[in-house]
Amino acid sequence: MTKKHGKHHHGHLATASGVTKSPGSSHPASGGDSDPASPIRPAEGILTVPPGEPFDLAGVDADADGGLDKDWAKEALREQRARIETLQERLYAERRRSLLLVFQAIDTGGKDGTIRAVLQGVNPQGCTVASFKVPSTEEMDHDFLWRYHQRTPGRGMIGVFNRSHYEDVLVVRVKGLVPDAVWQSRYGLINDFERLLAVSGTTVLKFFLHISKDEQKARLQARLDDPEKHWKFDPADLVERKSWDAYQAAFGDALTRCSTPHAPWLVVPANRKWFRNLVIARTIADTLEAMDPQFPEAPKGIADLTVPD
Ligand code: AMP
Ligand code: MG
Repeated sequence: MTKKHGKHHHGHLATASGVTKSPGSSHPASGGDSDPASPIRPAEGILTVPPGEPFDLAGVDADADGGLDKDWAKEALREQRARIETLQERLYAERRRSLLLVFQAIDTGGKDGTIRAVLQGVNPQGCTVASFKVPSTEEMDHDFLWRYHQRTPGRGMIGVFNRSHYEDVLVVRVKGLVPDAVWQSRYGLINDFERLLAVSGTTVLKFFLHISKDEQKARLQARLDDPEKHWKFDPADLVERKSWDAYQAAFGDALTRCSTPHAPWLVVPANRKWFRNLVIARTIADTLEAMDPQFPEAPKGIADLTVPD
């Protein structure tokens, strides 16, 4: 990992030199399923979709909890949050690279809850959150990536995508909002887009929160039963639930076709919120640690200065 400090904050995002190979690394570039220079560090319990290989989403146990104890995990989450806060300060101070966290899931899958639980200690000035809804007319008048590219994190920032460019091969496909040939062409375009981000100094962590159909039923019912949760209930979710299988198929294809060495898909068993939160927080902390952000060099002679009266 280079320790050169970018003192110049005027150009574009730092190139990948800071996030890829260490200067002395003798690892050959991997043609296989992982990039040895990638800082992405999925925590135990998360499944990394192997690039270029078929992946069976139906075979993933949404109930998995790694055999962990719930109370212990809640304590451990606090520790991981503290690590994220410390490392975020360095990322922000270094101001050369950025981290993009992408969250995708079926309705009630836990995107909002995860963002709240995992990122609550992060300095708001170093973080941007973008929640993507049905596109506006202006957004629809542009290419499908336009609105996402505008919200990617700049140097020093952590960016959060609550839903993302993947909606354009998910809901758009399931509801048939564009001709088949249009959404089919998007997987490659998404891979190119994420590669552009990666080579421009943005580490992309893509979390797919995997819940079971039974769990979705329980979560929707809980929203109906509790007046304090009524605001979260969207009648449209019951309509979408009828397309459960079509969504699973669309998720499966997105995971398979868009898991790449530079931006692999990370599948999180998400029926148990405390397990989901812990493994995601740990992945973010470990990845930031591997990025190894450095405070910029102090101005010369600073140690000799004192503040006059
Ligand atoms: P929510 O995240 O629950 O507030 O709902 C946002 C809604 O916007 C969901 O129903 C998404 O399916 C929908 N949405 C997000 N992105 C797109 C898109 N690119 N095209 C169509 N619908 C979208
Ligand atoms: Mg919703």
